[in-house]
Amino acid sequence: MEIRKMPVSPIGANCYIVSEADEAFIIDPGGDAEKIIREVGNRKVRYILLTHSHFDHISGLNDIAKAFPDAKTAINIYEHDWLYSPQLNLSEDFGLTFVFTGKVDLKLENGMQLDFAGTKINLIHTPGHTPGSTCFYIEKSDICENNLLFSGDTLFRSSIGRTDFPGGDGRKIIDSIKIKLLVLPDETVVYPGHDENTSIAMEKKFNPFLKRI
Ligand SMILES: [Zn+2]
Repeated sequence: MEIRKMPVSPIGANCYIVSEADEAFIIDPGGDAEKIIREVGNRKVRYILLTHSHFDHISGLNDIAKAFPDAKTAINIYEHDWLYSPQLNLSEDFGLTFVFTGKVDLKLENGMQLDFAGTKINLIHTPGHTPGSTCFYIEKSDICENNLLFSGDTLFRSSIGRTDFPGGDGRKIIDSIKIKLLVLPDETVVYPGHDENTSIAMEKKFNPFLKRI
């Protein structure tokens, strides 16, 4: 499995293109749609997965959904409506007024699994940064040499997501990380929504926000 990480406009959120042979899925098309489309090339895009609906993770969604009409757009059930609300997705605050012009195909809930290239994408609902924040976890297998966690704005290298936006909850984000993420295998590689990769082991050891756990 190949993972391409692309920090995209407007504020450098990480978009990921995950591919296996001629299939792919895209996580958080936050902007720079043309660049993402070029990177995908001829692969068949199965899913457009959103870790949450803040504007910096979804601003390229309209162009990407149009470019890959067979791909299923997926977001947590709690944030479906946020895609259509510039107030809730915060785009209004940044003068972008983003509204999704397409439709959501999959409303995600904790524990759901999506099939991809003979493996499973596991959905972990991690409320705290936003009510519908969702992480995507793939276990290692013949086609995937590590356990992979795409953690959105829930868990960062040596940090955690902000909880001062609408719907944020400082207690819930700690609970989500403690109960649902730190229980994953230590060697799991973490691909966050901003900045550098990390691992579950590194965050258990060094993350100052998790010291109290
Ligand atoms: Zn966010």
